Amino acid sequence: MPDRTCIACRNKGNANILFRMVISPVGSIVCELGRKLPGRGAHCCFDMNCISKLVSSNRLEIALKGRHFKIDSDELLQNVRILLRRNLEGMLIASKRKGVLTFGKEAVFKKVKLSKVGKPFVSKDISPNNLMNLKRISEEFYVLPFVMNELGEFFDRRPTGVLFINDALLVNSICLRLIQERAISNG
Ligand SMILES: [Zn+2]
Repeated sequence: MPDRTCIACRNKGNANILFRMVISPVGSIVCELGRKLPGRGAHCCFDMNCISKLVSSNRLEIALKGRHFKIDSDELLQNVRILLRRNLEGMLIASKRKGVLTFGKEAVFKKVKLSKVGKPFVSKDISPNNLMNLKRISEEFYVLPFVMNELGEFFDRRPTGVLFINDALLVNSICLRLIQERAISNG
């Protein structure tokens, strides 16, 4: 995949570490991961400083020459967060479809002890008790930007606080998006 350049900091990266912006017919900025939307686009890092530089400078105007658009930093951040969360949701659902996802703390804890490639994931509102039990058996786990109810809805089951994904590739892709999501979230 060819390298793309962040128009704010000029760092180059592959399409995985940048998001792309295009202008819709009504002049709003539409963000995407990858490159599907037609038209002239510009890339930016998942980084608060880069995003605020887009808003405070004329770099986006220059990159998207000839396009008229409105830019609002809160709205742009919010759109990128939604994009990342949807992507995470898609990967979680994909892991269920692929048969590499385990629910329920007993089953997850068993997997943690047995699997070499998989990793545990928890909802952001996991109960302190479950978290403590997980920490006893695993040093490594990842907090998803979803609450138990949201995770339950993704999988069409009851609220879910602990998951295990037994697929190294999916775990890596999810962890990359989690890092990016955290980098553009407040606190
Ligand atoms: Zn950048």
